[in-house]
Amino acid sequence: MDLLEYQGKQLFARHGLRVSSGRAVTSVQDAVAAAAEVGYPVVVKAQVLIGGRGKAGGVKLAADEQETRLHASNILGMDIKGHIVRTVWIEHASDIASEYYASILLDRSAKKPLLMFSVEGGVDIEEVAEKTPEKLIRHHIDPLAGLSREEALQVARQGQADEDILEGVADALLALYEVWLQEDATLAEINPLIVTPEREVKALDSKVSLDGNALYRHPENQSLSDSENEDPLERRAKEEGVQYVKLDGNIGILGNGAGLVMSTLDVVAQAGGAPANFLDAGGGSNAETIKQAVDLILANPAVTAVLFNIFGGITRCDEVAEGLIAAFGEIKPTVPFVVRLDGTNDAAGRRLLAEANLPNVHSAATMNEAAEKVVALAAGGGGS
Ligand code: GDP
Ligand code: MN
Repeated sequence: MDLLEYQGKQLFARHGLRVSSGRAVTSVQDAVAAAAEVGYPVVVKAQVLIGGRGKAGGVKLAADEQETRLHASNILGMDIKGHIVRTVWIEHASDIASEYYASILLDRSAKKPLLMFSVEGGVDIEEVAEKTPEKLIRHHIDPLAGLSREEALQVARQGQADEDILEGVADALLALYEVWLQEDATLAEINPLIVTPEREVKALDSKVSLDGNALYRHPENQSLSDSENEDPLERRAKEEGVQYVKLDGNIGILGNGAGLVMSTLDVVAQAGGAPANFLDAGGGSNAETIKQAVDLILANPAVTAVLFNIFGGITRCDEVAEGLIAAFGEIKPTVPFVVRLDGTNDAAGRRLLAEANLPNVHSAATMNEAAEKVVALAAGGGGS
């Protein structure tokens, strides 16, 4: 679960990282009022779940009310790489002496959190990593021992942070690790971590992803997922209790069980297709769930063909077939479907489907055959 910049900064503040105070607003009028409260000069910042807002014109300094009005009205409604800005964050502007970079993420191959630090912040860190890798300090944290102050200082020193603020940088790194650990984050990034002319170290930006599966441990973070900025289909799926992730392709995918869906994505990709989504109908999918799932898949206008890959364990294939027949009765899809039913009651399921004689539904016996069929159909190859 990705957080907006200001939500991430609120988590930072809870763990003692310095941030500027500010307000999240959704109208020009409220932006002006917020600016007066936090005090000029302010910075007006687009709140979208995508980086590079500054370059896209979504981060602007405002010296007075007139400039706040101008920037807020330009930024609200702005399209930043497909993300429409509905919220802006108004914070008191900081003076910047240096821009550093700090992040912690889970390094799965090392099975440890990886702390990264660089004095080359404010820019694309990928570029630093590529062109001057020696300027990006990488330090694995022992998850049992945690991050010690001595280690944090060492990282700051190794990265050649200014001598006089080594302690301040170490404090920030320790706080960042606390955020990462205690909030169950998978990523906590600050770019830039700034040093002010007064030699204060503070987070000017945040990028935080929380582990959705650990959210139950953080009731206070639950409301963060209600973000209006979520993909509307993903939000709807969540409300319906369905595991759905939107992807860029045109082949709608439904399977039961995350593992099966994952391998279905792989097989479709191998057959040269591009999946439009990940949709796990779950272990005990019944007719109602299937109807909802079909609805959800077809709500994405990019979908030109759909692959149903069901392995009946607890799920009964005849129930899935009934769900599909009911869904077709109501939704009347215009795109072709390929259905592969295997497992519990598969023969009964296939018989029901054959009897219903649904228009544009093709059955396949194996996963590979199903993938090849759906890829051909999605490309317009003979959907009858
Ligand atoms: P991003 O472009 O999405 O990464 O947004 P950031 O929050 O990192 O802002 C982009 C850039 O805007 C920063 O690297 C700063 O150079 C500049 N910026 C942001 N906030 C302030 C501020 O309070 N004062 C000043 N002087 N510059 C700022
Ligand atoms: Mn940034």
